[in-house]
Parts: sequence; structure tokens; C-alpha cells
Amino acid sequence: MLYADFHTHSQYAYAVSKKNNVQGFYESSLKKGLGLVSTGDALHPEHWKELDKLIEINNTGLYTIQGKPEVKFVFGGEVSLFFKHEEKQKKIHLCFLSPSKTEVESLKDELKEYNLKSDGRPILKISVHDFCSKLFKISEEFTVFPAHVWTPWFGILGEKSGFNNLKDAFQEYEPLIKSIEMGMSSDCEMNSRIPFLESKKFLANSDAHSLDLVRWGRECNAFTKLESYHNLQKSFELNSTEFSYVVKVDPAYGRYHYCGHKGCGYSQESQGICPKCGKPLIRGVASRVDELSDKVERKVQKNFKILPLKEVIALALNKKSSSKIVEKEHEKLLKENNELNWLLEAKIEGDNKISKMILLNRQGKIKFKPGYDGLYGIPFML
Ligand SMILES: [Zn+2]
Ligand SMILES: [Zn+2]
Ligand SMILES: [Zn+2]
Repeated sequence: MLYADFHTHSQYAYAVSKKNNVQGFYESSLKKGLGLVSTGDALHPEHWKELDKLIEINNTGLYTIQGKPEVKFVFGGEVSLFFKHEEKQKKIHLCFLSPSKTEVESLKDELKEYNLKSDGRPILKISVHDFCSKLFKISEEFTVFPAHVWTPWFGILGEKSGFNNLKDAFQEYEPLIKSIEMGMSSDCEMNSRIPFLESKKFLANSDAHSLDLVRWGRECNAFTKLESYHNLQKSFELNSTEFSYVVKVDPAYGRYHYCGHKGCGYSQESQGICPKCGKPLIRGVASRVDELSDKVERKVQKNFKILPLKEVIALALNKKSSSKIVEKEHEKLLKENNELNWLLEAKIEGDNKISKMILLNRQGKIKFKPGYDGLYGIPFML
């Protein structure tokens, strides 16, 4: 199985670790067990200097660091679009993947009136429709997917500055959008309840701002075979079998699953007024999905809900995931297997606390106090 993460960021994007460079991507991906990652921030001129050195594998549109074939790269990035639609301010994050390096060069040229230098995820004052028009004019082989679609701010279906469907945003380009990124706070079951997402593939990507494995590849996509960009595009077609399943966290672990107020320390599943401050709660993804769903049962794309290994060790030892002892135990395990291997399939021997917790994680027995208003959900065992 090949695991791929299509949403990453370099050190040049806002609030991202200074260690996020191409070599770092490679090392963390190896430890995690990812075989393919997006270069992230491909429009940024400084990050580009590193990306320019990647070597293309036999005209496949996939690239590697010279002499390091274990991790492949696909050129990609994220843009932050600010624009007015029917008098309302919209703020939408879109990700793209490129058929090869050449098309990114053309895209950079097409966007040269904008400041691509200020942020790895540049802010462009252009609509979703007009951005797609520029991109697909260069090549219809570009892959575009809306990022973390449900987050209240920046999600294309988010309630603060998004839309109520994809068609209003993409217009005539909507049929070219074959996939969406679910984001941490929703899962395949939730997204399958949305009528206008019926024909889309649901992606799980990490959007990692750090190389720490508690973030890097935390969510990813599993493929039976992916030897070229062309394969990748085909795998997003409805009847393809190459795209096998996604690996996600439980949506309750996500930072916007429930409605609530961080400052007031209050949350609940449905939307309402905060009993502490009297203002409307920040709407959670569970409630927003409910609003846009119909009651029709649909086939659900396969997904495994798994907590990152450091969180599992932390829970087993009753320590913080950032503590020294968790770090040490994590490193010890990684000497034997990569992280995804431990999480999903490695044979577990012995019955120490960590081994038991790895199995409970696989069985979906870890529970969560749901996240809300930007706070992560808190894992616990009954
Ligand atoms: Zn984003
Ligand atoms: Zn991002
Ligand atoms: Zn409040």
C-alpha cells in the first residue's frame, strides 16, 4: 500500500516550523511511512529554489530528491482566496496538484501580479471561479480540491465565509473537481450525507505545519498503485479501484467538531447561545454537516480512524504527547517499523500498556471529549 499526503506546508507559510524544508519532508515521511507527499507551497519563490532541484522520475510527473527514491513528491500548494460573492465576503482555501513542474511555472507566471513571496499559502484577491479559470487554462490536468471544507473560516462549506454547495463557488468548473479534503473534524460517514458530494472522492490530508509525527501525515490516503501523476488523476474517478481507503483521526479529535466558545470553556453538539456569555457559539462541523445533509443513505468510502502514535503512547502512559518519556518510547518503536505500520498492521507482541493501547486504537475503542472553537478533542479511555 502507498500512503500519500496531498496537503503540506513549507517553512515559508504562516505559522509553520522553520524546519519544514524538502529534506525534512523526506525524513518525516520515511518515519511515518508515507510514499508520496505534496511539495506544498510550490508558488513560493524561496521554497521553489529547493523544489527546482527535485528529479522527475521518467516523465511521470512525480519527483524525488536525487538518490532518495523512497519518498516521491508531487508539485502542489494551497491558496487563500478573498473575494466578494453576492455582496458577501468569502475566504476560501483551495489546494492544487500539478501534472508536472512545468505547469507550476506557467501558473506562477499567470499569477505574477500577486505577491507570491509574502506567504507560502498566498492570499489572492480572486474568486474560486476565476482562480480555476486561470489554472485550467494552463492545463485541465491540474487537480484542484477545496481544503478542510467544513472549517468555519476558510472552508468552502464553512458557515462563516463559505458557500452552501460547490456549484455556486466553482460554477462551470464544478465537474472538474473530483475530490474534497474532509478536514480533521469530519469523516467519510458525515460527508456521505451531503447530496452534492455524492460523486466526489473524500481526501484525508494532514495540512501539517510541523514535521513532528503527531502532525506530519496524521491523515493520509492509501493507494494500491500510484506510479505517475496520471495514475493519481485516474484514481479520483468514481469507479477507480486504485484509491483504497483513507486514514483519519476520529472527527471528535478535530478542532471544530462541536459548537462552543474556547474562552468560556463551553461546548455542545448543536448550535445555540452560550450560557456563559450570551453570544452565539462558534458553529461546529457536526452541526454544519447536519444542516446541509439530506437523510439519504449512501455508500460510505472506506476510512480507518486512528490517533497518531505519540498520542496513543501518551494515553497509555498517562503523560503529555510532548513529554520526554513519550518521545523516547516513540523513537524506540520507530526503530522497528514506520508509524503507519505500527498504527494499522504490525503484529503486536507482549501485553504492556503501549501494546494494548495500539490495539485499542485499531479497534476504535479510544473515546474523545470533542474539540470545539479551535481546541483539539481530548482522547480518553473509559
Ligand atoms: Zn487552509
Ligand atoms: Zn494548509
Ligand atoms: Zn461564551
